[in-house]
Amino acid sequence: MNLQSKVSVFAVALASGLIVALLGIGLLSFRQYSIATATEHIRSSAEIVRVSLTEAMINGVISKRESFLQRLTEVQGLRTARVVRGPQVEKQFGQGLAREKPADSLERQVLESGKAVFELNEEGGETLFRGTIPFVASDNGQPNCIQCHQVSPGAVLGAVTLTMSIDHLRTKALTTLSLMVLAVGCFVIFAFGLLRRAATPIADTAVDVEAAVQRAINGDFKAVVEVRTKDEIGQIAGDMNRLLAFLDQGLSRIGQKVAQLTNHTPNGEGNLLDNTIRVVETLTEAAHFKQAIEEDQSKDEIYGRLSRVIEQRFGVAEYSLYEVLPTNNQMLPVRVNGEAHGPCRWCDPQILIRNDTCRARRTGHLVDGVSAPDICYAFRPQTEGDGRRYLCFPILQSGAVGGVLQLVLGEADAARAEALVPEVDIYLRETAPVLEAKRLMETLREANLRDPMTGLHNRRFLEESVENLLAQAQRRNAHLSILMLDLDYFKMVNDTHGHDAGDAVLKALAKVLVRSVRGGDYVIRYGGEEFMILLHETAATVAMDVAEKIRVAVEGMKVPIASGVLQKTISIGVADYPADSDTFWQTVKFADVALYKAKESGRNRVVRFVPALWEENNSKDY
Ligand code: GH3
Ligand code: MG
Ligand code: MG
Repeated sequence: MNLQSKVSVFAVALASGLIVALLGIGLLSFRQYSIATATEHIRSSAEIVRVSLTEAMINGVISKRESFLQRLTEVQGLRTARVVRGPQVEKQFGQGLAREKPADSLERQVLESGKAVFELNEEGGETLFRGTIPFVASDNGQPNCIQCHQVSPGAVLGAVTLTMSIDHLRTKALTTLSLMVLAVGCFVIFAFGLLRRAATPIADTAVDVEAAVQRAINGDFKAVVEVRTKDEIGQIAGDMNRLLAFLDQGLSRIGQKVAQLTNHTPNGEGNLLDNTIRVVETLTEAAHFKQAIEEDQSKDEIYGRLSRVIEQRFGVAEYSLYEVLPTNNQMLPVRVNGEAHGPCRWCDPQILIRNDTCRARRTGHLVDGVSAPDICYAFRPQTEGDGRRYLCFPILQSGAVGGVLQLVLGEADAARAEALVPEVDIYLRETAPVLEAKRLMETLREANLRDPMTGLHNRRFLEESVENLLAQAQRRNAHLSILMLDLDYFKMVNDTHGHDAGDAVLKALAKVLVRSVRGGDYVIRYGGEEFMILLHETAATVAMDVAEKIRVAVEGMKVPIASGVLQKTISIGVADYPADSDTFWQTVKFADVALYKAKESGRNRVVRFVPALWEENNSKDY
């Protein structure tokens, strides 16, 4: 119920209450007043009757009492008047007139008790007041009752019954009450008008405030409450406006900052406050996410964490996360639907070898396949026509696209794409620099483990990865053949043709060595012009064949230098882990001993380690 209705109900209730109370009290008062007035009137008329009858007796005209009573009724405005003769008077003077016998129980009661009785009666629509007053014998005055009546004082001589209508009193009471009710009614109507006048601005302000609060709950603080009065209500309206303006300015400032942070200006739809709160929450969560990935050890851990965010926070189960390889035109699927290095499931696999066919990679912009499903030709879901859409986000690192995140959305999810875009963007912007730093660190680490001149792994690489290599070999129960290689008389090259020529020979040799082994084998520049080759799963005899093949290849290698063409030979020592020793570095030493033997026995040859060589080597040392 609004305020105006409450005021009306209050006024009606007040008016009704007042009128009912007024009527009740008025009627009761008038009734008592009427009875008192009538009682008084009847008592005084009875006294007149008594005095007149006494006079009539003295004057001997008692027989005329009937006409006297008739006149009395006319003069006093009585309806009836009659006297009743008591038993003692009957005894002394006879029964008198027939009408003078007690007519009812009330008259008999009065004659017996000597006490007056009054009563109200309704007769023919008229209210009659009746009183029966006893005449009690008294010896006061001259003449007195005892002089004529043979009774003792206090005896009841008779009674007079008088009736009168009190309708005229009731009519007066009702007229007065009606006037009073009318006055109260007018007063209440006037008061109600005043109250309404006072309540209207309060009610209107309350309606305005309610509407303003409703708009504020929906994130709109632009409502204005009209200031209608200069009292406390006007003050409330003014304060409300100031509060709304303050909140509006605050929210738009927060909104601007958030828009700057997220690069997304809210489209003004939905609840601005809710949207802003959600974006701020996302920013906070993304900041925590960034802290976590900064402490991750590898890119792969970061990709794993990012894919958990995609699945759990964004509720997207179908997606692809690609890494763009910097050196060639390729892309690598690092996570597909949660699977690490899964197959390219949602796009034409061509994007993997020609990454510029990926529109997000090529343009560096969000590719919105929800609004425009045909925008990218490379999107190729396994089942066509099932309404699947896509959002492809480039992951920008130092201005270049370092990766692409593709979210695949079902028809039901497409509706929330618009809300997803800024939130995913926030996460990707936090992830990109950390990924870039990790990538840089991995490149630096990789560079640290390679020889810059030949591009081969270096000795540090061997030291760092030897445990892995051995664990792999043990898991597969495989052999590891170790070839130690050293160019023959290489110093001469430097001395004769200069250091550049020596470098050219080393580079050419590195290529020959890499070409001579399989992809899974390792070619390591072990020292200046010393190389080591680790062959997986190769029996010693096969290792010897490979070594011989290398020796022959080096022999035939022609290195063009400024002054012509150089040809060199190489000596190779071969040992087998764990056949020769169950210690890797001991096996390396054995290969070295075999190499030494190859040098000693004339160079340009391959020598397989045998234990005798070790004994020979030791005896030389001492
Ligand atoms: P040997 O047949 O006994 O091996 O004779 P050698 O002359 O090859 O003797 P040694 O292996 O001791 O010589 C190593 C030489 O390799 C010494 C050094 O000048 C040269 N060398 C080492 N690293 C490099 C390099 O990076 N570039 C060039 N140009 N020369 C290098
Ligand atoms: Mg050497
Ligand atoms: Mg040498």
